Amino acid sequence: MPQQTQQVWEETLSKIQGRVSGRQFETWFRRMHPVDIGADSLVLGIPAAFYREWIEKHYLTILQQALNETFGRDVKISFVVDAPQHKQLSFDWQARSHESALQQEAPLTTEIDIFEPLQLNDKYVFEDFVVGPSNRLAHAAAVAVSESPGRTYNPLFIQGSVGLGKTHLLQAICHAVRRRDPSVRILMLPCEAFVNKFIAAVQQGSTMDFRNRCRSADMLVIDDIHFLANKERTQEEFFHTFNALYNAQKQIVLSSDCAPHEIPTLEERVVSRFKWGMVANIEPPCFETRAAIARKKAHERGRELPNEVALYLAENIETNIRELEGAVVKIIGYASLINKEISMETAKEALRDVLQRGRRVRMEDVRNAVLEYYKIKPSDLKSRSRSKSVAFPRQVCMYLARKHTNCSLEEIGSFLGGRDHTTVLYAEEKISQEYQKNPQVKHDINLLSKKLTQGA
Ligand code: ADP
Ligand code: MG
Repeated sequence: MPQQTQQVWEETLSKIQGRVSGRQFETWFRRMHPVDIGADSLVLGIPAAFYREWIEKHYLTILQQALNETFGRDVKISFVVDAPQHKQLSFDWQARSHESALQQEAPLTTEIDIFEPLQLNDKYVFEDFVVGPSNRLAHAAAVAVSESPGRTYNPLFIQGSVGLGKTHLLQAICHAVRRRDPSVRILMLPCEAFVNKFIAAVQQGSTMDFRNRCRSADMLVIDDIHFLANKERTQEEFFHTFNALYNAQKQIVLSSDCAPHEIPTLEERVVSRFKWGMVANIEPPCFETRAAIARKKAHERGRELPNEVALYLAENIETNIRELEGAVVKIIGYASLINKEISMETAKEALRDVLQRGRRVRMEDVRNAVLEYYKIKPSDLKSRSRSKSVAFPRQVCMYLARKHTNCSLEEIGSFLGGRDHTTVLYAEEKISQEYQKNPQVKHDINLLSKKLTQGA
C-alpha cells in the first residue's frame, strides 16, 4: 500500500478518534485498513462480513464525514472482507460481545481455492426458466453458449436489473455444460468473491498462483461484474485474466445490473472488451410472462395456481421476479397452514401484508414525482454529476424510495444509475438530518410524501 494512502487513512482515523468512544474506535475503526484508493473512492478492508453491516448502521456518517474532510470532497466508500491481515490480531471478544447482535463468526480460513466446488442451485436450469419477449434474446444466447462454449458469443454479457434472472441463466449455462462434459473446469464466482480472493492473494503474496489458477479455467463465469466499480486494482487483474482466457478461446460469461459503460470507473479498454461478444439485455417481464412464471414457481413446488390467482399476482407484482416467487411461496405456505385449496381468497389473505398497504408505491412513482418537483431530467438522476441542483434531488429520491417502496438498497441504487447500497444509505441519513434541520426541506419532503402515498 503506498505510503500516501496509509497517511490519508491515519489522518482520517485521528479525526474519528475524537468522535467515538475508545472502545468503539478500537473495535471498529482500528480493524479497518485501506485496500484500494481512487481519486474520490476508497475501498476499506474489514475482517468479517458483519463489520460492513454494523459500520453502515452505526458509524457510516462519522466515517463518511471524516473521509470527506480528509479528501476535501465526497468520497465513495466500499468494503471488502479481507481477513488475512487481521489473522494475527487477537479478536477482542469482550468488546465484541459488548456490541451485541453480532452472530457471525470471523472467517479464519485464508486458503484461496478458487475452484472450490461450484455452488449451483439445482433449480436454476434452463428447463425451469420461463421464456418471454423480455428475456428471449438473453436466453437464446445463453443456450447457444452452453452448447458450444467459446465458439458463439464470447464474452456473453447479460445485463438486467435486480431479480430478473441473471444468476438463473448463468447457472443454467454451467449446469448444461457440466451435464455434457463433467470434466470442464468451470470457474464460477460472484464478482465480490473474485475481488475478495484477489485481495487475499495480494496480501499473501500469492498473486502469481491466483493468476495461474484463474487462467487454467476452461470457462469463466462471473456474476454481478458491476461490483468491479471503483476497484481499479482488481479491474487490472481481471483484465489480464480476461485476455488470457479469451485468447485461448475459453468461454467467458458475465452478468451486470447495468451496461458495461455504465459501470463507474470501469476502464475504457475493459468496457470495450465486454462488448466484443454479445451484450444481451433482460427487461422486466410482461404481464403474460409474469403470470406464467407464477404458475411455474407453484408447479415446481407441487401445487397449481388457479388462473385468476396467477393473474392477480402478475397484476400486482411488476418489477421483480424474486418478489413474485416470494409471493407464490407465501400463498402455498398459507394455504397448507390453514389446510385449504389455493383460491383468490386464500391468496389475498396470504398477501395482505405485502400488497394491501394502500396503493403500492413503485420506484418509478418516486422518480417521476422527484423529476417533476425539482424540474430535472431523468438522465440527471442517473448521472454522476455532483452539482447540488441534481445531487440533492437524487438523494431525496433515494430517501423517498427507502421510505415508501419495498425496494432493497441494491434495487434503489441500481435504479438510480448503478449506485451501490452504501450511497443509498448515506443519502437516506443525510436527508433525514436535513429534514430535521431545514424547514424548507421538511416542507418539500412532506409534500412529495403526501403525493406518493395519497396521490395528492
Ligand atoms: P438476478 O440475478 O438477475 O438478480 P435471479 O437470477 O436471482 O435474478 O432471479 C431471481 C429469482 O427469480 C430466482 O429465483 C429465479 O429462479 C427467478 N426467475 C427470474 N427469471 C425467471 C424466469 N424467466 N423464469 C423462471 N424463474 C425466473
Ligand atoms: Mg443475481
